[in-house]
Amino acid sequence: MEKKNIDWENLDFGYRQTDKRFVANYKDGAWDEGTLTEDANIVLNECAGVLQYAQTVFEGLKAYTTVDGKVVIFRPDLNASRMADSARRLEMPVYPEDKFIEAVEKTVKANFAYVPPYGTGATLYIRPYMFGSSPVIGVKPAQEYQFRVLTTPVGPYFKGGVKPLTIRVTDFDRAAPHGTGHIKAGLNYAMSLHAIVTAHEEGYAENMYLDAATRTKVEETGGANFLFVTKDNKIVTPKSDSILPSITRRSLMYVAEHYLGLEVEQREVYLDEVPNFVECGLCGTAAVISPIGKIVDHGREICFASGMDEMGPVLSKLRETLVDIQEGRIEAPEGWIHVIE
Ligand SMILES: *Cc1c(COP(=O)(O)O)cnc(C)c1O
Repeated sequence: MEKKNIDWENLDFGYRQTDKRFVANYKDGAWDEGTLTEDANIVLNECAGVLQYAQTVFEGLKAYTTVDGKVVIFRPDLNASRMADSARRLEMPVYPEDKFIEAVEKTVKANFAYVPPYGTGATLYIRPYMFGSSPVIGVKPAQEYQFRVLTTPVGPYFKGGVKPLTIRVTDFDRAAPHGTGHIKAGLNYAMSLHAIVTAHEEGYAENMYLDAATRTKVEETGGANFLFVTKDNKIVTPKSDSILPSITRRSLMYVAEHYLGLEVEQREVYLDEVPNFVECGLCGTAAVISPIGKIVDHGREICFASGMDEMGPVLSKLRETLVDIQEGRIEAPEGWIHVIE
């Protein structure tokens, strides 16, 4: 299919409307078949559950072109099951996991012209989401829901090279113990906006959130999990029930162990021990890994040995290996690469 005339290398991470999106409706206790539509707008009742009580969850993944010209998505089964977990926690009906993958496939196929060519670094970002659509005024779950999948082409995450970030330890909390930190819900982002806007105003790229109960342990940022590297090249990632289980992080831990032969450990990480690590990075779908050069904790600077000029050698190798797997230059573990044909 002919590609759209887009300057792929210079796209930013913003919304650009594409031709088609998928919509399915839940009513009287059942999901309908769903369909593709050209209408990018949604008309909702003024009292819809999502508008009054924020009953909405989402996912994020990407379609891209591999070295042999195939259009693929990465481990969509994990997005499907994570969205099911998110929905259950907010008393929403689960969109069936097999149907989720079908809906993503249909939407990507319908927007094939927007899947960036191989080698541009750009991707077609895919956003599945669902929300309570029927009116709710007394506090309870909505009766009706809508599931949608939209796509938007986005540019390479690191234009002109990867530069390490400076982040701060924030006094705001992201998620309470036994709260909703482990699900991908809009509500976790609404409350993070003030923290991120003030972090940016003070010159920091992101916030490091600590555990809300003791404020001694590392959780994550607003939208990415942490990875640390020890002096003897072990990969460490924080363990907590209030961290969002990043698919990128789970994939990187597997790659570190099985492709690079590194020791990996998921455990509680205390802020006090962070200065002992030699590399630090953030992981998520968009950037895979973004390096952290410096963490500022109320004036105290924690500077990693990898410095402020480039990503450290261990995280660089790890990122490169996962990207090689994703783009088809290295053989992927069974089931990781889902071809759209
Ligand atoms: C989406 C998200 C991540 C990253 O998850 P991936 O599946 O790797 O994209 C990390 N933290 C939070 C809070 C998130 O919402």
